Amino acid sequence: MKEQIEIPLVKRKCDNCHGDSLVDLWNYKTMTKTRSTQWVFRVYNVICKNCGFIFTSPVLNQEYLLKYYRDSFSAVDGQTLDYDIQNRLIVIDKYMSECSNNVYLEIGANLNSKFHSKLQERFKQLITVEPNPSASNTYYDINELKNIKADIIAHYFVLEHVVEIGLFFKRCKNLLKDDGIMICEVPSLDKYEEIIGPLILFEHVNHFTPQTLASIAANYGFKMLEHSTKFCSRPFGFVSIFKKDKIVLDNGINEYEVNKKLFQSGLRSVGIFNDQIKVIRTHIKDQDNKIIIWVANLITLKLLEGIESTNNITIVDVDPNKKLFFDGSPEVRLPDEVIEDIDNSNAIVICSATHSIDILAYINKQFGKCYDESAIYIIR
Ligand SMILES: [Zn+2]
Repeated sequence: MKEQIEIPLVKRKCDNCHGDSLVDLWNYKTMTKTRSTQWVFRVYNVICKNCGFIFTSPVLNQEYLLKYYRDSFSAVDGQTLDYDIQNRLIVIDKYMSECSNNVYLEIGANLNSKFHSKLQERFKQLITVEPNPSASNTYYDINELKNIKADIIAHYFVLEHVVEIGLFFKRCKNLLKDDGIMICEVPSLDKYEEIIGPLILFEHVNHFTPQTLASIAANYGFKMLEHSTKFCSRPFGFVSIFKKDKIVLDNGINEYEVNKKLFQSGLRSVGIFNDQIKVIRTHIKDQDNKIIIWVANLITLKLLEGIESTNNITIVDVDPNKKLFFDGSPEVRLPDEVIEDIDNSNAIVICSATHSIDILAYINKQFGKCYDESAIYIIR
């Protein structure tokens, strides 16, 4: 049995207006496993009545979270996979001319990526920081960075995980040259209805709109130059560019009504998603025959909750990094390893709606397997 840790909760006021008039939006308890530990997360999503920023309060204790991330499999939350390199480079190239091209610092990254080899051509020095020691990075902790002044600081899908936003921005400010640029990508609240991933991921402690993010960053002396969903490297977020500037307190934004609606639309999609999962899960449980589940991601994780015996299931993903996605049980297999299972299966569950047509075509071409339309379950 793994050790079980319930992450303690800490009081938290609004990072934007520092108000504490908070309205409950959605709370739940969930469990997850890392290498050595089983973790209990309690998630309390609230909205600030004064400004409309949505975050979790009380919030998960930062130190425990760091322990959790350090013990995680790097691929568990899908953060390290599946982004558009070209979009990242377009944004970097656009702003490179505004600063010198010496030092690029990325928080929350693994150096061994195609993206970083493209950056090698552009910068004299690349530095990455990532709490997960399984990644091949330069540093594990932002506090270890001393005497570094970066021309560009980037953090892609990091800030929604950060409990102490103020401290994070202050450190970024210290690490950035005066004429430097900070690039930040986060999930966008107005996409939650369409893509629920960022809403249901229990690790997320902040839910941003461009306005709330700009306003919070201004509290710590960062001015947002622009933001864009088109050039974000993932379809559910927005990229924003910041420069150092004077501190601007109280931007007076009030997005309470609009943000609450956006969050609630997201929750309706979560309800639809859960109903769909329930139906498919029941079908899997009732079947003795082989079922293929294609793609290991958070949807798959959700689907497997409450399924005790996975004997009739084979989980397939073309990405070898996902082998231990479920902590090794069930193991995620590459297509070529399970040709026989694919051949013997009489149903398939696809946990990636956007790629479902390609996946079915691939299976047909590669293994000559064609499923009955009634035996194809696509989770949307
Ligand atoms: Zn507020």
